[in-house]
Amino acid sequence: VLTWEAPARIADLVRLGVPFDTIDGQIQLGREAAHSRARILHAGGDATGYSIEESLRQRVLEMGIEARERTILREIRPRSSGPPETIVSAADGSGVETLDPRPLVLATGGAGSLYRQSTNPSVTTGDGVAVAFRAGAIVSDLEFFQFHPTVFYRPGAPRFLITEALRGEGAVLRNVEGARFLPSIHPDGELAPRDVVSRAIAAEIQRTGHPCVYLDATEIPRDRIVTRFPSVCRFLATFGLDPARDRIPVAPVAHYMIGGVSTDTDGRTSLSGIYAGGEVASTGVHGANRLGSNS
Ligand SMILES: Cc1cc2nc3c(=O)[nH]c(=O)nc-3n(C[C@H](O)[C@H](O)[C@H](O)COP(=O)(O)OP(=O)(O)OC[C@H]3O[C@@H](n4cnc5c(N)ncnc54)[C@H](O)[C@@H]3O)c2cc1C
Repeated sequence: VLTWEAPARIADLVRLGVPFDTIDGQIQLGREAAHSRARILHAGGDATGYSIEESLRQRVLEMGIEARERTILREIRPRSSGPPETIVSAADGSGVETLDPRPLVLATGGAGSLYRQSTNPSVTTGDGVAVAFRAGAIVSDLEFFQFHPTVFYRPGAPRFLITEALRGEGAVLRNVEGARFLPSIHPDGELAPRDVVSRAIAAEIQRTGHPCVYLDATEIPRDRIVTRFPSVCRFLATFGLDPARDRIPVAPVAHYMIGGVSTDTDGRTSLSGIYAGGEVASTGVHGANRLGSNS
């Protein structure tokens, strides 16, 4: 499904108006850690998620699909056949009502907010897994939580993710002594799988007693960094840092819930009439360690 059907689904997104970045009329492709070839689409440089979500939001509005904002899923009560009773309320707990979705698709995202340090927004509270589990759904692989290796480190600063694509373009990691440490650990060096890079950084932090390592993108031409990574440049500028000149302090933090509500290949959970998709779902496709951009 992931490899054979992806081109058709991407064509759907293009048709729905997602403005993927192109070069000479062709969609531009990037490479991330542990990828054997360049296959990652992006939009707005490094604002891909925002571009996809905003394009789909516009289509939903245009198509007149009913969208109920600030409505929280509280509980699902499966029936022996057909869709489950679905209890929702306003965010403050008022206005409790029962919906009858046909079918119910859980898409409540991950659970990064369970961790003190995470790249995730505050809405990632694992609600979908909790609600489904209480209703009797099978959940799986919850022990696998991915840590992203290169997240901006500065005490008190937001945990801003410094995209892996920067390493795909040639940025390298150095410890506080200025030495690269990944080439001796994995043949792919900085583009080793995320768990390998995160563990290697954690080991360096422990060994040196310094709270972070440094991402060095100074060998990448400035114009390439500015056009390809505008959000990263904007964020770093607020701390007086320029990635074409300065090494960026980074450390691993919690990033992606690999486990979740168990589904089959078509997104069916173990409960009748309930599907799950996105980060709340545990499809098995990520194994114990999701590859970058496979979500
Ligand atoms: C900083 C960052 C960078 C990333 N970069 C990449 C990347 O480059 N490539 C890639 O493939 N993936 C990336 N990811 C991962 C990817 O963005 C997420 O896995 C994906 O967006 C999850 O989508 P989703 O629709 O499952 O959940 P979300 O987009 O998290 O949406 C879940 C929604 O459910 C709502 N919700 C939660 N609980 C309830 C409830 N009880 N009732 C009602 N609504 C609820 C939330 O408010 C939210 O609106 C990144 C993630 C982060 C945080």
